[in-house]
Amino acid sequence: MSSPIKKSPWIYHAHAGGCVGCDIELLACMGPRYDLERLGIKWVASPRYADILLVTGPVPLHTKPFLERVYAQTPEPKRVIAMGACGTSCGVFIDDENYSIAGPVEKIIPVDVKIPGCPPKPEAIIDGILKVMRKF
Ligand code: SF4
Repeated sequence: MSSPIKKSPWIYHAHAGGCVGCDIELLACMGPRYDLERLGIKWVASPRYADILLVTGPVPLHTKPFLERVYAQTPEPKRVIAMGACGTSCGVFIDDENYSIAGPVEKIIPVDVKIPGCPPKPEAIIDGILKVMRKF
């Protein structure tokens, strides 16, 4: 079993569609109740600084090039979390005949950890981040 990452992980959040419910739970993780920064987990404004890419949403076709570019801009070694029912399986947007959806996330870029839920609770998000830290 690989050892956990030895430094504080920096995370870039890529919103790839969805209803923004997942994104609000991410905000809760940053607020005073869960306050992930006190554990050294920091959100960054550019993928170029990130260790972890956290993707929400089902990835509509028009967002696919953006997600591919963000993945390419994230330096190695990097890990990817797909969050929410949308990110992991397209959720309510799942439909083989849906003309506008390219996802789920794992169809576009490699995914290391999935966080299920619609939306996942902050506790599940924190658990997912800890899981991906063990994959470095
Ligand atoms: S998983 Fe649920 S809460 Fe998250 S973006 Fe999709 S519909 Fe919204």
